[in-house]
Amino acid sequence: MPSLTDYDPCQLRSELVAGGHNPTHAARILREYYRQNGRLDLVSIPVTRELRQHLQIHLLSRRSKILLKSAAMDGTLKLLVGFDDGAAVESVLMPSFRAGIAAGCVSSQVGCPMGCDFCASTRRGLERNLDPGEIVEQFLHLKEHADAMGRKLQTLVFMGMGEPLLNFEAVVTAIRRIADPNLGGLGWRQVTVSTVGIVPEIDRLAAENLNIHLALSLHAPDDATRSRLVPANRRYPVSEIMAAARRFETTTGRTPNIEYCIIRDVNDSPEQAEMLAGLMKDFRAHVNIIPCNPIGAGVSGTVYSAPLRERILEFLDILRSRGVVAHIRETRGDDINAACGQLREMANDNYVPLGS
Ligand code: SF4
Repeated sequence: MPSLTDYDPCQLRSELVAGGHNPTHAARILREYYRQNGRLDLVSIPVTRELRQHLQIHLLSRRSKILLKSAAMDGTLKLLVGFDDGAAVESVLMPSFRAGIAAGCVSSQVGCPMGCDFCASTRRGLERNLDPGEIVEQFLHLKEHADAMGRKLQTLVFMGMGEPLLNFEAVVTAIRRIADPNLGGLGWRQVTVSTVGIVPEIDRLAAENLNIHLALSLHAPDDATRSRLVPANRRYPVSEIMAAARRFETTTGRTPNIEYCIIRDVNDSPEQAEMLAGLMKDFRAHVNIIPCNPIGAGVSGTVYSAPLRERILEFLDILRSRGVVAHIRETRGDDINAACGQLREMANDNYVPLGS
């Protein structure tokens, strides 16, 4: 059964007409539904008894449940969100160091087909794509939990399970609902899509002109290292994804961020820092250095770990000395297996249902 997250105002108007109801209520119903984080109190809307019954019977229920919650010492909250068919994905809420706000992270696919060697989300491959409503429901769960913490959900990244650009239409549709001031109300500039670099889809996203951010998960400046970590690199090598990132900037006026998961003895050498600085020449993108969050053995059986702090600082110093804008992004939720895909792995099929 669908929920109201499956509709935009135009689609809901058609649904109401098909049910013999007055369609003029559609926009207000959806506005209230989002305002109440997907728990519509019908008393707040003056609709007919018949329409109220129609909504209760056909549209009001959420299609997802929170199966597991895991809270870290630093306040990071990880949710395992389950759907009717048994699929489950992860969503994460990260309270900011600034009072009153929080950042959210949602998944776009159940599992992931990309096979990145350091990532737990891909261990079971791709199970299926999420539909737009399932992505929007993650946003509403996060918004509800942020409200309960007394914080405003300020930003949302598509950096959870899955490669968002391989589920392009659903992700773009979900973003349109989440950012719409009359629906999710988050704002376009508050949304970031993260990709390992599917070049044609980066160009396609730029052409959508959504005014959102793009994050490019680079993780290595040379093809040999990157192909080992991110198999997609064999199809779209470093030179091609960097060219796509520059085209995205030219087309949209928005400079992508470069994400660099730094891994001990793999991509943390001074030579690789120099190579990365070379790639950033005349490109004002911000480089986020993210210490590797260990997941145990990766897809190839390799166990990855973060370099020592001094090594990371040396890497950062080289970038900055070459004029690159770079920061270390501290990992969050280390004590709750916060790396993407770990909660689902941990839960396996033995989670304790909490209800949503
Ligand atoms: S890092 Fe992202 S793209 Fe790569 S396997 Fe994990 S979820 Fe998929």
